[in-house]
Amino acid sequence: MGHWVAGGVRDRAERYGPVHDPATGAVTGQVALASAADVDAAVAAARDAFPAWRATSVSRRVEILFAFHQLLVEHRDEIAAAVSAEHGKVLSDAAGEVARALECVEFACGIGQLLKGGYTEQASSGVDVHEVRQPLGVVAGITPFNFPAMVPLWMIPNAIACGNTFVLKPSERDPSASLVVARLLQEAGVPDGVVNVVQGDRVAVERLLEHPDVEAVSFVGSTPVARRVYETATRHGKRVQALGGAKNHMVVLPDADVDVAADAAVSAAYGSAGERCMAVSVLVAVGAVADPLVEAIRERVARLVVGPGSDPASQMGPLITAEHRDRVAARVGTAAEEGATLVVDGREAPDGAPDLGQGFFLRPTLVDHVRPEHTVYREEIFGPVLSVVRAQTYDEALGLVNDNPYGNGAAIFTRDGGAARAFEVDARAGMIGVNVPIPVPVGYYSFGGWKSSLFGDLHVYGPESVQFYTRTKVVTTRWPDPSTAGVDLGFPRTR
Ligand code: NAD
Repeated sequence: MGHWVAGGVRDRAERYGPVHDPATGAVTGQVALASAADVDAAVAAARDAFPAWRATSVSRRVEILFAFHQLLVEHRDEIAAAVSAEHGKVLSDAAGEVARALECVEFACGIGQLLKGGYTEQASSGVDVHEVRQPLGVVAGITPFNFPAMVPLWMIPNAIACGNTFVLKPSERDPSASLVVARLLQEAGVPDGVVNVVQGDRVAVERLLEHPDVEAVSFVGSTPVARRVYETATRHGKRVQALGGAKNHMVVLPDADVDVAADAAVSAAYGSAGERCMAVSVLVAVGAVADPLVEAIRERVARLVVGPGSDPASQMGPLITAEHRDRVAARVGTAAEEGATLVVDGREAPDGAPDLGQGFFLRPTLVDHVRPEHTVYREEIFGPVLSVVRAQTYDEALGLVNDNPYGNGAAIFTRDGGAARAFEVDARAGMIGVNVPIPVPVGYYSFGGWKSSLFGDLHVYGPESVQFYTRTKVVTTRWPDPSTAGVDLGFPRTR
């Protein structure tokens, strides 16, 4: 798998990395790993394409985005297959990722409305003032392995709708989806050079962060890298939004419906093998709901079907790499050593379960009696592991949410509207769910966390991305009447 620069594939490289099928463990391809010179070539292509793209009318840009939307719909299965083959998630989940990406394209199709500036007639005598939004130039996106189609499409549609040109550096773990997206953008009419893809690792990232022709960087990935990307790119004078990791809590109050809460917890904890930044990884059971809820979750976990993503019967696929699977499994062991209770230990196959071969599988794991000092609570695990923390009161549960260093999503399950409203007001997280376990905002709102889940000011996609991908300019205009002209050395005042 190569780069996509100026409208064509470039697959020669000095370094390559292996791409796996996580369901079998087999190496299925080699991805080019960009050098600094490869990044420079992609940025140069984007820089060269910028003047003409910026001059392209808004209506033509929108026409292209509509065509791209149609192509995404038509190629949904192809993209889902590419995602599933390299990421491992089940096909229906991969198709869902494309559906969420479509929302972002739909939003970008309304860019004509979104780019409108303001106008003030007669701000001063004979003076009018107006504001315009202009594109930044070349912008870069650096994306994680867990949504290889959706996260790039959180960025690209709005960035190019605003008139920017784009360089994407996708995850080297699952590089193929980005190449399908680039090809479809070209087919839709996006001129060559407007969207480029450089495959690679930190070498490519480092070059993008310091490149003088890159105006802004959107990053999505783990918190340590997000922090570093933010610090490095801002030091080089760039606008940055860097979304990091998460530890999403789902608080269940004693009045919640146990079956509804159990269904939601299992779906949100084990979907995509827990490799979602909005996965529920901590369930805070308040009061007497804990015992029946843990039992209801245990029953559901026992019925989950784990297997290759390509098998329609599978509900949960493998993890992304053998190393990551081993790391998650090690955290499960540490949880037991530190005093938590393994209700379901995914390191062991249940009696009669099919052999999962050499794939990077870890079965769903449920850990009860987790405490905030436990490693499994403190770290982002990013696997199919749900930790249950027992709290005595609502205030104790809210305290856990608010003391956690991450603040991506948080959910509350209750039938008490007052409690839900209090949670909405007081929880320190960027996205809140009320009886919704994964509150990913629709494409016409913006997505982003608080605390160590986001470095920067503006959230990704939706209205905040239009702010991120444009800068404003205010124009003050007078058409003077020569009869009233005269020298005036005073500071201009409104009159
Ligand atoms: P990652 O941080 O390892 O990688 C993200 C990107 O950064 C990749 O393109 C990778 O090549 C690059 N990268 C990795 N290490 C780097 C380094 N040392 N220097 C420079 N670049 C580097 O993340 P991942 O494992 O691909 O994805 C999982 C993480 O992403 C989880 O922490 C998850 O919570 C997070 N995530 C967050 C969101 C969000 O919206 N907040 C969304 C999806 C994923």
